[in-house]
Amino acid sequence: MSQEPTPIREIRINPIVPSESVLVATARGSRPRKEEAPAPRDTRSHVETCPFCQGNEHLTPPTLAAFPAQGEWQVRIVENLYPVLGDDRTGGSLVFGLQQAIEGYGRHEVIIDHPQHGTAIHEMSEAHLSLLFGAYRARMRQLYDSNPRLKYVLVFKNFGPAAGASIPHTHSQLIAMPVVPENVHNELEHSRVYFKKHHQCIFCSLIDEALTFEATLYHRDSGEIRRKINVGQYVVERGKHFIAIKPFASRFEWEVHILPLVHQSDFLAISDEGRDDLARVLRRTMARLDAVIGGAQYNYFLHTQPHGPEHADCGASYHWHLEICPRTSIPTGFELGSGLFVSTISPETAAQRLREVALSAEY
Ligand SMILES: [Zn+2]
Ligand SMILES: [Zn+2]
Ligand SMILES: [Zn+2]
Repeated sequence: MSQEPTPIREIRINPIVPSESVLVATARGSRPRKEEAPAPRDTRSHVETCPFCQGNEHLTPPTLAAFPAQGEWQVRIVENLYPVLGDDRTGGSLVFGLQQAIEGYGRHEVIIDHPQHGTAIHEMSEAHLSLLFGAYRARMRQLYDSNPRLKYVLVFKNFGPAAGASIPHTHSQLIAMPVVPENVHNELEHSRVYFKKHHQCIFCSLIDEALTFEATLYHRDSGEIRRKINVGQYVVERGKHFIAIKPFASRFEWEVHILPLVHQSDFLAISDEGRDDLARVLRRTMARLDAVIGGAQYNYFLHTQPHGPEHADCGASYHWHLEICPRTSIPTGFELGSGLFVSTISPETAAQRLREVALSAEY
């Protein structure tokens, strides 16, 4: 197993959103946090009382969409019983003094990922995951088409209680909202500025760098090697159309991002062939994460181009991606108060450990 070569203590700036940074402190003993327990793993395939299990469809709100549309469903979308946003009220927005409230208009839906209860992402077949991405795409498109007030449809998955999952049956969620989430807004704005300056998408530049860049930094006085960056050092997985990368300034120790290799701003533009390859890259990446951190609780979410005329110009500068964020420790007051995430394993070592996993033949 790879060890940290030399302890690092440095603040790394996120190249996409410079206001986000991470403190990488890998020296032994700089472990200020409580480890998060692995998610309680429920491997049962059917649970009599679970509303999301096949055969229990009467226990959930009505089906909004099912995939495939005919026959036994493999992926099923229903209304969330406890929506954070809804389209049942139309009160308009409020401004009072400095305080502003935008009406919480939108949709909150549950995507039941798989008919079998405790199936992990890496245990689903490639064909199934491709169907799941097809379901995300179809429902997002439907929602955007249904109402021009919806600016962003956020698709995400919580796995494990620490990641916010309250129902153990494997599922994702979708929240359609009238505003662009702050995280996406920051990425959009900064990538727009970068594009103006360099005439290139910053995400494409980062992919190029991950695949082609190498460098050695030396100490000015001693001439000793300070840092060596090898080609492919941040690459975890590479498919025909997608790449899984460990960000240089990862907020979470095992965070991995998956991006299309060729520039694409809107997830809705993914081709069927692209979907198959995304399924393969995600499945292999999740199997690697599972082998290294076993049963981790995690979130993943899609960041993609918002809709509406005010975002139509970011097609060249923005690049959609899937962020996978395993929760292996509980954030401290320091992290919440400063916004500075602490990583006790360097992204380089984490990427290497993920790459070193020998995947079994089924992958
Ligand atoms: Zn279930
Ligand atoms: Zn790009
Ligand atoms: Zn993002």
